[in-house]
Amino acid sequence: MDISVVVPLFNEAESLPELTDWIRRVMKANGFTYEIILVDDGSNDGSWEVIGQLYEQNPFIRGIKFRRNYGKSAALNVGFEATRGDVVITMDADLQDSPEEIPELYRKIKEEKFDLVSGWKAKRYDPLSKTIPTKLFNAATRSMSGIHNLHDFNCGLKAYRKEVVKNIEVYGEMHRYIPVLAKWAGFTKITEQVVEHRSRKYGVTKFGFSRFINGFLDLLSIFFVGKFSKRPMHFFGTLGTLCFLTGLGIIVWLIGSKLYDIANHVKYRNVTDNTLFYIALVAVILGSQLFLTGFVAEMISRNSPERNHYQIDKTI
Ligand code: UDP
Ligand code: MG
Repeated sequence: MDISVVVPLFNEAESLPELTDWIRRVMKANGFTYEIILVDDGSNDGSWEVIGQLYEQNPFIRGIKFRRNYGKSAALNVGFEATRGDVVITMDADLQDSPEEIPELYRKIKEEKFDLVSGWKAKRYDPLSKTIPTKLFNAATRSMSGIHNLHDFNCGLKAYRKEVVKNIEVYGEMHRYIPVLAKWAGFTKITEQVVEHRSRKYGVTKFGFSRFINGFLDLLSIFFVGKFSKRPMHFFGTLGTLCFLTGLGIIVWLIGSKLYDIANHVKYRNVTDNTLFYIALVAVILGSQLFLTGFVAEMISRNSPERNHYQIDKTI
């Protein structure tokens, strides 16, 4: 099979017939063998019933239904596990991503041998209140992840070599940072393709202002998970040790100079010495606490089970 299209969806009943028909037309025109995996992320607007009807008309459609809403990352993850195609395309259900982009995405993976091609909505029709934070997030993600050639990490339209999706786990809110997950897994041939940004035809966005707060937390987790989740001791241990040694150094120096004063009969009592001594003492205590925090985190991360705990209700 050439292509698996994975579509995470939450209350998108109205869009689905048009979306699947559009994908079908593009696949047919290009002679691709394909499947469309519709992952219903706990919709309550009859999306699952629509998926059932669409399946009656098109046997290349498959459906997975979550018992409740687990979020876009979990939906993508379960879709990835189900894929059978050589190239995997993800796209949003809301008709904002155009299936017409698929042939070129496919070509970049197959012929140019990229691991991941990320869509870049170069021209957006969003208000500044959305585009400015998005730009900041993308800039921060670029510098933290070292993937300098992507403008837009969060675009729903992406293409992957099948090995990529089989070797990453998308969890929490990490759907915004899949190129980073791919890079961590060793898939470094990453590029982007300018794609059209259409406005939502039916329904409303599923992410409100909370997207920015969650996005910010994800950014922190990128930094910590990426660099330190396997080795939290490296972060907290280093910080703790530095803090501890600085404090200890100051105390040793204070005691040393006091002893020197006594030995040389210098009568020298300065109140700042005491202040400095207490600061140094706090640093020593703080340092050992940080070190212990790292130790505990290390124990937890070494024993933590898988991160995804979603339950599948039905599949077709
Ligand atoms: N989505 C999902 N689970 C959620 C929220 C969203 O599967 O909990 C899907 C949604 O149905 C759509 C895609 O993720 O197919 C992108 O969501 P949306 O269009 O609301 O995001 P935006 O385009 O505003 O970034
Ligand atoms: Mg959308």
